[in-house]
Amino acid sequence: MLPYELEEYFNKIGEPAFRAGQVFKWLAAGVTSFDDMTDIGKKLREKLSESFYITVPNILRKQVSALDGTIKYLWELRDGMAVESVMMSYEHGNTVCVSSQVGCKMGCAFCASTIGGHIRNLEPSEILDQVVFTQLDSGKKISNIVMMGIGEPLDNFDNVIRFLELVNHAGGLNIGMRHITVSTCGIAERIDKLASYNLQLTLSVSLHAPDDETRNKIMPVNKSNNISRLLEACKHYHEKTGRRISFEYALIKGVNDGDGHLRLLAKKMREVSGHVNLIALNEVDGSQFKPGNAKEFAKRLSELGVNVTVRRRLGADIDAACGQLRKKEKSPSYSVKGKV
Ligand code: SAH
Repeated sequence: MLPYELEEYFNKIGEPAFRAGQVFKWLAAGVTSFDDMTDIGKKLREKLSESFYITVPNILRKQVSALDGTIKYLWELRDGMAVESVMMSYEHGNTVCVSSQVGCKMGCAFCASTIGGHIRNLEPSEILDQVVFTQLDSGKKISNIVMMGIGEPLDNFDNVIRFLELVNHAGGLNIGMRHITVSTCGIAERIDKLASYNLQLTLSVSLHAPDDETRNKIMPVNKSNNISRLLEACKHYHEKTGRRISFEYALIKGVNDGDGHLRLLAKKMREVSGHVNLIALNEVDGSQFKPGNAKEFAKRLSELGVNVTVRRRLGADIDAACGQLRKKEKSPSYSVKGKV
């Protein structure tokens, strides 16, 4: 709940409005019971616990990378479903990569998150909890959020917007929009809708190919959102919000890393003043796709005047990289790798 909604409740039961701020702050700090809200009287705490519940995800598994300290969490949700989040430490702060759905229906050929299909959307609280409890468990203050975990955020639009409101609120975690990235596989009509909110977040579009023929082969979403429609939405988004869009491009050997792809990509990026975030494909078990040479491709793109960065790879030893997060149901036979 947002503070104004809590306020309405307290108003109704004859309590002062400032109680809303107290409760909201406790929830952002990750309390798991109303009894932990020590500045609220016992009677009122009892009343709260009769009317509400606090969502508390259970850590089913926690893996810490021996290489760079990246932490991957597998959270158990109220109904036994599970999703993953990843915490990465950089010089400029700590970033948590959160999931937005249990599974994913978008079907990208190179991504493990979509293999088991889509089970359900995450509630705003379930997305928020990934930030709150990552911060609490890791003891690291989270300064940045990337919605690049399992799921397609724009396919869970309303819950994602509400999550953004919750996490951005000054009375809670207070994470600025400019510290939040929302990544989408490219649902044009939802990019248009997001533009109408005029948020200062960073929009990241998973492009992965500059032509429809290639993109159709690896991203089914392209069949109903072809590149020209997608880039039109991106252009509009940029004009409306003033924010430059970042385009993700995972290099797949022999699929999207040819000279023709390179030149066409450069041309398209000039049209939308886009920034390219290159990454060599992360290998997924059982997949035929192999990584291309990101460094080389980046060098040549930049020679063509494109603004490009190569994404660093963190958490390689714990399968925490892009495209490797999977939907996992609670299962007693769960293997506990790298337990800490
Ligand atoms: N559904 C959203 C959010 C997922 S973000 C989206 O598609 O953008 C995860 C990012 O990792 C996306 O850019 C996705 O295309 C990319 N990705 C998926 N599988 C990958 C893999 N095997 N290697 C590298 N990047 C991958």
